[in-house]
This record gives sequence, structure tokens and C-alpha cells, in this order.
Amino acid sequence: MSLMTYATASKQQKNERQRGRILLVMNERMAHLCGPTLEEAGACVVGVAGGMAAIVSIQRTRPNIVIAEIELNDLRAAELARTIANLHEDMPLIFVGAEESASHRRLEALSLGAFDYFQLPVELPLLSVRVTQLIRMQLTIERLRAEADQDYLTGLANRRRFRVALGQEVERWRRYKIPCSLLLVDVDKLKNINDAFGHSTGDVVIRHVAHMLRESSRDNDTAARLGGEEFALLLAGADADRAFAAAERLRATISSSPIERVGMATVSVGVASCPTHAISERELYAMADAALYRAKRDGRNCVRMAERL
Ligand code: GH3
Ligand code: MG
Repeated sequence: MSLMTYATASKQQKNERQRGRILLVMNERMAHLCGPTLEEAGACVVGVAGGMAAIVSIQRTRPNIVIAEIELNDLRAAELARTIANLHEDMPLIFVGAEESASHRRLEALSLGAFDYFQLPVELPLLSVRVTQLIRMQLTIERLRAEADQDYLTGLANRRRFRVALGQEVERWRRYKIPCSLLLVDVDKLKNINDAFGHSTGDVVIRHVAHMLRESSRDNDTAARLGGEEFALLLAGADADRAFAAAERLRATISSSPIERVGMATVSVGVASCPTHAISERELYAMADAALYRAKRDGRNCVRMAERL
């Protein structure tokens, strides 16, 4: 029977992410001892693994906390702590075991990089409180991290997140020869809209364009607001032809969906692809930017493709 069956119905309905995910690195007997208590405290046990399988499970389940029994024969505590520190430096690790939690044992656990050591089953209530505390902290870190990557006005990725995604996509080309494309999108004459209807209406236009970008992007794409009224849409796996078609669709949709009070707003788009137009992040951005400049010069509300290399 799975550990999940111990959770109450309402807790099962709660989102795993909100509850905080725990991976138990221990044998089934020990897992059945502490799993139900941890779930009752609000956590979600995402897996039970032993030995080297723990490392694979950590990669697969992405837990917020790892609780490991330190007397496992096939994976020593120090090795596990080191591996977790290397892979996910801020993932808390707690050791548990049958031995008394004397100060020398806790000191040893802490020096290995773990957050603490608890003796089971006697210190199960203590473990449960500590885990609840750590989960709250981990979820706060997750939220702050997500917010740090987000544009406050539109909820899209911000420039920081976009830079990372651009680097990753170009790297995917270098390693696996998977193409990617960049659309730089700029609202036309936003200054006139601000002047005519006020800055808050200008913000409505920005949010509207952001919504359209989000609608145009698939799971692995990145829609970002780079600042002001400039946006980027990074299309993973898209070659130049597909990117041009996507850009044209986006432009046409925006120019044909009226915004209350403002009427139609339009955008200009510059498109560049890796490897057709560039094979580095900097070059890809510069090529898309130059194409956007041409779109503006050619009268706005149009898409221009970068020149071939
Ligand atoms: P163009 O077609 O050449 O892009 O014209 P434009 O008016 O959009 O561009 P310009 O660079 O001349 O001016 C940008 C305008 O965008 C002026 C600025 O006030 C406005 N803007 C930038 N960020 C924001 C924002 O967050 N909210 C609002 N409402 N306006 C913004
Ligand atoms: Mg503009």
C-alpha cells in the first residue's frame, strides 16, 4: 500500500507543490514508520528510495527536502550529502537513524552538511515539526525565486530569466543541433497611446500584448517582457520559417483584437533564427533587433526577418 493512502482526503487534494515534497531515502519499514506522520503534518512524500537509486529519485521527483537513514549499507551518509550539495546546493537533508541523537552524532550530521539528525521512532514528533518548518522556508524560497524571474506588470519572464533561457536554447543548438528562434516585439507608438489615454491605459495595452505572447507560446518557449514596451518570444525548436509564420500570426492577431477605449494597438516584430542567422546568443539578439529596427522603418505593424549570414 502506498504511503499516500495514509493522507486524509482533503490533504490529498492539496497541490503537491503547495504542500512541499519529501523524498525518503530509507527502507520500506522505516518509511512506513515516519511517512504517515509527515503527511499528516501537511507534507507530501514523493518517493521512497534506497542506495544509489536515491540520486535518480532526487533528479526525478525534485523534492524540497530529503530525509535519509544514515545506516544504509549501500550509500554512505557523506556521499549522499556531497552529491546533494553538488546537485542542489539549497536542498535540505535530514539524517535519521536508530541511534540516540547524542550531540556528537548531531555534530557529525551537521558537519556533513545535513540540517540535523533525529532518532526514530522516539523523535518522530520533533522530526515532523522540523520538516514543517523547513518546508515553509523552502516554499518561500521557491516563491521568491519565481518572483525574481518575473515581470511585475505582466507576469511574463523578465529580462534576467530571458537571458538564461536564450543561453540554454543556443546551447541546445551547439550540443544537439536543435534550432531556436527569437522574436523581438515592440508596441507601435505607445507614447501616443499614453499621451491620448493616460499611462494606465498604456499599461493595459502592454498587458494585452503580453497576453497574446503567452497565448502564442508553447511549453518550452519563453515569453518575456524585456522592459518598457519591448517583448521577446523565444521559440524552442523552431526554425526560421516556423518562426516567421508564428510572428506573422502574432502580429495579425494583435492588430485585429480591439482594446477597450484604445481600439487597435499594433506591434512590429523582428525575427532571427539559430543557426540560419546566428550561432551565438549575442548575435541572435543583435540580428533580431536589427530586423525589428527595419520593421519600424518600413512603417510598423509588420514582421521583418534577419538577413542571412
Ligand atoms: P515606436 O513605434 O517607435 O516604438 O514608438 P513608441 O512610442 O512605442 O516608442 P518610443 O521609444 O518613442 O517610446 C516608448 C514609449 O513607451 C514611451 C514610454 O512612456 C512608454 N512606456 C514604456 N514603458 C511603459 C510602461 O511600463 N507603461 C506605459 N504605459 N508606457 C510605457
Ligand atoms: Mg514602441
